[in-house]
Amino acid sequence: PHPTPEAPELDPFVLAKALSGAHFIGGRYVPARSGKSFAVVNPATGAEVAQAAEGDAADVDAAVEDAAKAQKAWARVPARKRGALVHKCAAVIRDHVEELGRLIALETGKALRTESRVEANTVADILEFFGGLGSELKGESVPFAPDVLSVTVREPLGVVGAIIPWNVPMLLMALKIAPALVAGNAVVVKSAEEAPLAVLRICELMNRVLPPGLFNMVSGFGPECGAPLVAHPKVRKVTFTGSVETGKIVYRTAAEKLIPVTLELGGKSPMIVFADCDFDKTVAGALTSMRFTRQGQSCTAASRICVERPIFEKFVKAMADRVNAMVMGDPLDEKTDIGTIISEGQFEKVKGFIEEGKATPGASALVCSAMPKDPALRKGLFLQPVIFTGLDNDSRLVQQEIFGPVTVVFPFDDPEAVLEAANDSEYGLAASLWTNNLKVGLDLAHRLEAGLVQINQNLVVQANLSYGGVKSSGLGKEASLEAMLEHFTHKKTIMVNMG
Ligand code: NAD
Repeated sequence: PHPTPEAPELDPFVLAKALSGAHFIGGRYVPARSGKSFAVVNPATGAEVAQAAEGDAADVDAAVEDAAKAQKAWARVPARKRGALVHKCAAVIRDHVEELGRLIALETGKALRTESRVEANTVADILEFFGGLGSELKGESVPFAPDVLSVTVREPLGVVGAIIPWNVPMLLMALKIAPALVAGNAVVVKSAEEAPLAVLRICELMNRVLPPGLFNMVSGFGPECGAPLVAHPKVRKVTFTGSVETGKIVYRTAAEKLIPVTLELGGKSPMIVFADCDFDKTVAGALTSMRFTRQGQSCTAASRICVERPIFEKFVKAMADRVNAMVMGDPLDEKTDIGTIISEGQFEKVKGFIEEGKATPGASALVCSAMPKDPALRKGLFLQPVIFTGLDNDSRLVQQEIFGPVTVVFPFDDPEAVLEAANDSEYGLAASLWTNNLKVGLDLAHRLEAGLVQINQNLVVQANLSYGGVKSSGLGKEASLEAMLEHFTHKKTIMVNMG
């Protein structure tokens, strides 16, 4: 049911087939050593669109060995030049935004207009930002003794293993590879099994600029392909985005090897709305953050919304009205606002939460937006967004990450009680506050347990602003100069005795 593109390279179905069955190692597309592959499915129709190479420890080993060789030479390229090359990659990506947007829409079911094109552009933004930071890789001179020169220098870590999920795979990959490469490391990425194609294409595009071997990619399943990457003796740092459960496995293996890790994990982000907020802007902010356009598959989704009682009912109704006005349909259609859930497993899991919520005494569910009518989409993984009210704070729907188009809204009377409820969570990724009383807003911002707190906005990742969770939401930061220095280099001390 997709529109005919104006140029053949913009046909994601053709491109997906062309990318079938490959890893990217040593500057080339190569098949899995085992010869095995698995299906990549279009979640809007259930049809197979490509086969992906099914990687295992042998493929990982080849990718890491190649990366280790390339890294030695790359570390000797002046940092500013490394940055300039990464910046040049941004220009190549920028020229392929349309192609990448369509490809990611096809494999993930995220709508092209509202989600996928934006993600492709953000990849270029991230590469541009980190590409400009080469000359920031500097150290200090430290007074020690008159005839001793003591300096610190920033050195790369070696080969970085990067493991990514499927929800925003291109963006999350860029946040890892851009600082790692500028800092002088080589990278091996393990793509998510549900979305291996667009990131593979990015690999080839960036390899038009970068030396071969520096940026390799393997596709495959977690235990067979991700685990050997973390465990590989030449991988000296792992940066991971995904679930808390897998994050703990990665952390354990990294601990055995004594290597540093960055973990970006799940969330259950509270949004606290005061009656004095700018009402329309706040309703829009709830929708932006909840990302119904991406079927709620966002780690920072405002999945717990607390609204001051005087505007509670009006707020819930306004949210539902806006979601009802959104068009759910073919992700590649420009008219579509809301695409699909990623996979059948995720679809069943989210449906289970919705059924549980509906069966909870006292709860009420506002089911919004209409299912697509196109018969070609009847096997698509479409779920109508649901806004729940009347649930208790200890309900599973309130405490667990659903990662689907489901949010819960509560009324509140007392700011102290709402702060306590917001912090009563295993997670601590993001939070937002909506009020025109900045004194109250800032006070609560300081006391909310989250890595990112926003007042009167719900924008999230900015390449130049530190990003990352606390509690079970993660360890370490991504984005920002600080993240590049802290997480992708080590500080070496060099002393010269001239006495
Ligand atoms: P997941 O943990 O199942 O998978 C993530 C990646 O880990 C995949 O590539 C997978 O193949 C790999 N993996 C699985 N088992 C592994 C193992 N034993 N060793 C090494 N790698 C392994 O997560 P998911 O379902 O793909 O992604 C959704 C989760 O990601 C949600 O919890 C979401 O909140 C989180 N997420 C967090 C952020 C953030 O920035 N904090 C951003 C996006 C998504």
